[in-house]
Formats: sequence, structure tokens, C-alpha cells
Amino acid sequence: MSIAENVAALRARMAEAARAAGRDPAEILLCAATKMNDAARVREAVASGVDCCGENRVQELTEKQPLGAYEGCPVHFIGRLQTNKVNKVVGKVDLLQSVDRMELLEAVNKAALRLGVRQEILLEVNIGAEPQKGGFSPEETRALAARMREFPGVFLRGLMAIPPISEKKGDNCKYFAKMRNLFIDIAGEKYDNVSMVCLSMGMSDDFEDAIAEGSTMIRVGTAIFGPRHYN
Ligand SMILES: *Cc1c(COP(=O)(O)O)cnc(C)c1O
Repeated sequence: MSIAENVAALRARMAEAARAAGRDPAEILLCAATKMNDAARVREAVASGVDCCGENRVQELTEKQPLGAYEGCPVHFIGRLQTNKVNKVVGKVDLLQSVDRMELLEAVNKAALRLGVRQEILLEVNIGAEPQKGGFSPEETRALAARMREFPGVFLRGLMAIPPISEKKGDNCKYFAKMRNLFIDIAGEKYDNVSMVCLSMGMSDDFEDAIAEGSTMIRVGTAIFGPRHYN
């Protein structure tokens, strides 16, 4: 199957999942998780009509961006970001989805102010409370959203989560539901410097459950590009 065929098949499954949940398919955006795919393959995904591209590694972003890989398409950063690399990402991506700790938020805010830009961000939530993973707890996320006016270099646009690896289909529904509730609670507070428009959750193996539970953006790699070959 070509990338275009994969994207078309994915769109059909997304629409079906949306309809089954009584949602409008247009509410749900498709972010192509482009890690380990070169600029030509990324361009193919863009031409197939994905809504945005999400890069995991600074080095890949830095290599593919000058090659025009994302031209005509928003690009997001979705991976773990070291504070000493924020300058390579801030102002260069439309959305930084993976703000997963206080130190990073502070560094991104500073870098944006220095550049005179306002970096749109999501807060990453460690919804499974997994010790090896980054991300704020739901309580920390609520408290931080209330303080976003203290970070004028950024603009909080929503939340992102990577739930635990699931053993079987449906296992992650409870985490997705928790995320939706957190998202709705924060949106209802109408905090300064916060506009809760994006709930980024769901990947190749569980996006239908994520859509059923309220996701507004799924991040998909394998189902678009095929399996990744790590070496
Ligand atoms: C790789 C990746 C995805 C997509 O994973 P697939 O299972 O290949 O769809 C989504 N989100 C993040 C943060 C990723 O790193």
C-alpha cells in the first residue's frame, strides 16, 4: 500500500470512529508521526492530505525542514525535548506538543520571549502515572494551566498524552476518558493565555478508542508509513 492509500484508509476509519461516537469527523485532525521517514516520504504524506506532521527528534526536524519536507503543512514537535535544544525548535514549529516538565516550559518561554514570538504549546500529561515517562500529573496540569499568564512567551492550546502500552484493545479507554475530563475541566475555567482546542491522543493501535473518548488529534506513524526499522 502506498502512503496515499494508507492515509485514505485511515481517513475512512477515522470518519467511521467519529460517526460511531456521534461526532463530526471534521473535528478530528490527523498528525503524521514522521520519525525515521525521510523528506521525500514526508512530502508524500503531506500531498496525501494529512493535517500536520509531528517530529520526535530535533535532528530530524533540522534536517528535513530545509528540504521543504513540511511545505504547505503545519509541523509539530512531539518528542522529548532537551532544554539545551529549545532554540532549535521554538519559533520553528507551529505547535510544541510535548512540554512535559516545568524546566522545559520555562526554557521554551524564555526562548520565545528572546525571539519575540509566541510559541503555541500543549502540556503533556503522564496519564498512566508511569515513573519512566515524562509529563505532568493531572493535578499539576490543572495548577499549571491556572498560571499560564506567567508565561507570556507561550500560548497553551491543549493537552497531549501517551498512555501506557496496552495489552489488548480497549485497555486505554479509561486513560483517554480521564484526559477528556481534564481537558473539559480546564477549558471551563477560561484561564488567561489558555485556549483549549487540541486534545492530542491516539496512535496507530488505539486511535479509534481515542476518538470515541474525545480526541481532537491523533498522531499516527505506522498506519501511514508502515513499520519502522530500528537498528
Ligand atoms: C511514534 C509516535 C507516534 C505514532 O506511533 P505509531 O504507533 O507508529 O502510530 C505518536 N506519538 C508519538 C509521540 C510518537 O513518538
